[in-house]
Amino acid sequence: MRRTAALIVGGGPAGSAAAIRLTQGDLRPLLVERHPQGDALCGGFVSWRTLDRIASLGVDPDSLNRQRLTRVVVYAGGRVREAALPRPAIGVSRHRLDTLLRAAAARAGAEIETGVTVRSVEGQVAQLADGGAIGAESLFLATGKHDLRGLARPAEARGVDPTLGLRVRLSPAPVLTRALGERIELHLFDRGYAGIALQEDGSANLCMAVHRSRLHEAGSPAALLAMLGAAHPRLGERLAYLSAGTPIDAIANVPYGWRERHGTPGLFRLGDQAGVIPSLAGEGMGIALASGIAAADACLRDGPDAAAAWQVRFAGQLARPMAVAGLVRRIAEHRGAAAAIAMMPPGLIGLIAQATRVGW
Ligand SMILES: Cc1cc2nc3c(=O)[nH]c(=O)nc-3n(C[C@H](O)[C@H](O)[C@H](O)COP(=O)(O)OP(=O)(O)OC[C@H]3O[C@@H](n4cnc5c(N)ncnc54)[C@H](O)[C@@H]3O)c2cc1C
Repeated sequence: MRRTAALIVGGGPAGSAAAIRLTQGDLRPLLVERHPQGDALCGGFVSWRTLDRIASLGVDPDSLNRQRLTRVVVYAGGRVREAALPRPAIGVSRHRLDTLLRAAAARAGAEIETGVTVRSVEGQVAQLADGGAIGAESLFLATGKHDLRGLARPAEARGVDPTLGLRVRLSPAPVLTRALGERIELHLFDRGYAGIALQEDGSANLCMAVHRSRLHEAGSPAALLAMLGAAHPRLGERLAYLSAGTPIDAIANVPYGWRERHGTPGLFRLGDQAGVIPSLAGEGMGIALASGIAAADACLRDGPDAAAAWQVRFAGQLARPMAVAGLVRRIAEHRGAAAAIAMMPPGLIGLIAQATRVGW
């Protein structure tokens, strides 16, 4: 069996952040990632604070997207509210973000192996799909939306009417580019919401979180998009740019609101494996990077046993942003009540945007 001081499972933002930070100490971590080139389902909104973290990891924010997002527009129940973001943010494809962060980790000295899938974890040993095994003094679990046998998040966290994520790409079009510009749009509707923003290649990412009951009512993801577009004219205007045959990416059972409150020596749970904030807040990647950085620092300072206390501390840091995001999500998804959000004073929208960020 191979052995390593620090094994990171998953090369998304959480895993790469931990890898970069560990190399800044005296550890040379091994990061294993199943996809050679990924493009995780995500809205791609990177907040001002997350941009600061990305810069601190040695990746120039301009290399992700030079265009900034400065405003948020909320559409709900026929109403529109627009507010300035506290500071400029960006929209970026996960392919670009994950590729650049992983490259930074490799440059910093982390050992990176792609095409390696971990099947399960038993104690401090990761069992690989190819039959191999890797033992680690410190294990960093950064598999994001995907659970590993032996360390799965509880099934109850999905709720009675689980949420799924859907994503489509709207091809670059001058009218769409002008309409979106520096804005991120949030479209609220019964039991769900959609976010739309331009990415680095000029296409727009339309990503939504919606309860399964709505998908069942519609019959299929394509029928759901058509139904939502017909019922919500402003969303329909954007969906009109969807080319025929564009794939609709989907992920099921997103356990919004769950966070790991207990710690285990030797095991650092990062990113979505530490806590899943409602995506309306656009802070999942912020949590991924913050957890990767903080866990690596704790491990470098106090060794593998630091994981137990660190996990509990990090759950505490997630409490406020997740509570605020959860409350806003409940209101936003409630039929009729969504209009209340669209009537909020712009200053309050800015305050919510601040309150849903995770601290350093
Ligand atoms: C609908 C939706 C919209 C969202 N929009 C936004 C947004 O706009 N802004 C934002 O900040 N956040 C958003 N999020 C949240 C964000 O996508 C996640 O919080 C973030 O990706 C978590 O990062 P991570 O590194 O923990 O996991 P991930 O990004 O999921 O990365 C995990 C990595 O681990 C790899 N992996 C998984 N299993 C294995 C295995 N067994 N073996 C080896 N490798 C494995 C995967 O291939 C992947 O590369 C959204 C989420 C959803 C569902």
